[in-house]
Amino acid sequence: MSKPAAVRRAGASAPLLRPLAHAGRAALALEAHRRLCAVYGCPIAYFHALPPLDELVSSLLSHRTRNADSARAFRALRDRFPSWEAVRDAPVADVERAIAGVTWPEAKAPALQRTLFAITEQRGGLDLDHLAGMDAQVARAWLSALPGVGPKTAAAVLSFSELRGRALPVDSHHHRVAQRIGLIPRSLPVGPSHTVLEALLPPEWDAQQVYDHHEVFMLHGQRCCFFRSPACGRCVLLDLCPEGESRRTAAAPAGENNAPSPEL
Ligand code: SF4
Repeated sequence: MSKPAAVRRAGASAPLLRPLAHAGRAALALEAHRRLCAVYGCPIAYFHALPPLDELVSSLLSHRTRNADSARAFRALRDRFPSWEAVRDAPVADVERAIAGVTWPEAKAPALQRTLFAITEQRGGLDLDHLAGMDAQVARAWLSALPGVGPKTAAAVLSFSELRGRALPVDSHHHRVAQRIGLIPRSLPVGPSHTVLEALLPPEWDAQQVYDHHEVFMLHGQRCCFFRSPACGRCVLLDLCPEGESRRTAAAPAGENNAPSPEL
């Protein structure tokens, strides 16, 4: 299938491509979603169903940490302490010992306790059940106001937990693919990219579709659009992707691939 007009790009070579306007980027997001869903199989099953507070703790532990290590630390907390209240009130050294396998346990242990204290102060107890009845944007703002909770954690709590809310988490793989195909500028960090990328999605999409969007971009980053050597030659997004075009042009022998494509 050919590219929709809105995702065709003007210009002769990838580095010179003009940034797309919002409508063009929305069309590009949709087309990339369609192709990646065909590869990875949508709808994608949710990988677990934790209560929102458990998801919050899990997400806080996972920052810059391998999934297996953060899952082990989460289990260690559950085994070591009878409740989240006990984690909140424990000597910080005990919490740090339990999560020793994650990156920066010495910072994450006190940060986790600060977050749990803040929830207790605001809610009068340790639960996030009130989020279930909230509008997704309001819930996201409430979570984001907690100490230590950024846009990714807030979106993860809403989307990945039993809440099954409509929110788009953006991890480093998702972010890299989005940058390379031109959905967001290279200069936009992961945090602020959440709002920009979610605004490109059709407002009528439900929570599952938004979740699928994150998952297929993440999977593509893990399995094809690698950080160091992306496998552009087998990528279904190649004809949409300035980075892929640029790499292909750079790899081609002199005199080849320099002529503008009829599509450009
Ligand atoms: S063409 Fe290359 S750089 Fe672009 S999304 Fe695919 S793998 Fe990543």
